[in-house]
Amino acid sequence: MAGEGGRRRGEMVPLAALVGREAKAAERTEAPSLRYGSAARSRKGEDFFLVRTDCHRLSGNPASAFSVFAIFDGHNGNAAAIFTKENLLNHVLGAIPRGLGREEWLQALPRALVAGFVKTDKVFQSRGETSGTTVTFVIVDGWTITVASVGDSRCILDARDGVVSLLTVDHRLEENAEERERVTKSGGEVGRLSIVGGAEIGPLRCWPGGLCLSRSIGDMDVGEFIVPVPYVKQVKISNAGGRLIIASDGIWDALPSEMAAKSCRGLSAELAAGQVVKEALRTRGLRDDTTCIVVDIVPPEHPVEPPSPPKKINKYNCFFRKRSRDSASKLAKKLSVEGIVEELFEEGSAMLAERLGNDTSSSVHATSGLFMCAICQVDLAPSEGISVHAGSFFSTNAKPWQGPFLCATCRNKKDAMEGKRPSGVTVL
Ligand SMILES: [Zn+2]
Repeated sequence: MAGEGGRRRGEMVPLAALVGREAKAAERTEAPSLRYGSAARSRKGEDFFLVRTDCHRLSGNPASAFSVFAIFDGHNGNAAAIFTKENLLNHVLGAIPRGLGREEWLQALPRALVAGFVKTDKVFQSRGETSGTTVTFVIVDGWTITVASVGDSRCILDARDGVVSLLTVDHRLEENAEERERVTKSGGEVGRLSIVGGAEIGPLRCWPGGLCLSRSIGDMDVGEFIVPVPYVKQVKISNAGGRLIIASDGIWDALPSEMAAKSCRGLSAELAAGQVVKEALRTRGLRDDTTCIVVDIVPPEHPVEPPSPPKKINKYNCFFRKRSRDSASKLAKKLSVEGIVEELFEEGSAMLAERLGNDTSSSVHATSGLFMCAICQVDLAPSEGISVHAGSFFSTNAKPWQGPFLCATCRNKKDAMEGKRPSGVTVL
């Protein structure tokens, strides 16, 4: 174009910056709204749930709003489920560095979720109460969904194109070979209950303790290889919207994911939650606490572009698309328009060194220069911090480039979780 050549150099804006700005503007104007409902039938009184739609990344700024939906399925009592419901969110938010923009905040979430889960477990165990809980913890910020889970409560996504996908994994010893291997390597024994005569009954359990789950919060009376480190998945759905169904195993033992999603399509979120519970009870009866939250992520009423009609997608190959971290938001936008759920993050390792990464910036106080424990966020003198990557429990070789750092008790806990010191459990 002839006119382009006449522009002064200083006015030129790189294409990537333009695309980025445009995407940010679109994000603001096209924020979805949420509709949600919940339903529960109690048998043991150990299921709890949390709905918070009033959270702000920046305090008092409604433009930075996000929502939290969570289910806690307790066992051996309800103390761990109640404690986790009341404290986990604060522990997660406390592990996110201050002053981050939206994209940075979303990128910091997976690590903060790991820290928050482990801190909650540590603080609860220090109270000396028995009981444990599963956690399925869902943060919805715009079109981005971040799910962290331990145990066997699930979150599924029913995207507008009708493809149903699981956003959690089941930490059940019976169904998770990788977890059986991890527990065994860390010093646990996996087996079934033996009855008189030597016959084995029931699901695979882990000893000491006899828990069927390989991850949970609480459970101080089982082996320390039952860890609170969550599986985390972060996805961005298309601007056509979608539905989340979060529920305890009372639902999933009765209904496969696909069936749960189909059973409530076309109903409002509130009615849908009731319908899923009803369907589960019809199939299996009330054998367990049964709790369900349905969250609809609804496109704005007057979207810039109307949602495109569902396209036929090979769900096994194309449903999730990985975005490389350095690719521009142009790609994200393109996938959004195509109606494909974009996978931003997925990690399930139980190893804290892998989950907390190498980033040192957030473990050092910008103002005081003090180190902070990456798990419990207490201040540490430089001589106290032990790198999460230090090879030995006895190493005090703390150097800034080896962060993040742990305080002595968190480091102790890490070693116990990895089977590097004898479990403190007394087996009766
Ligand atoms: Zn600590």
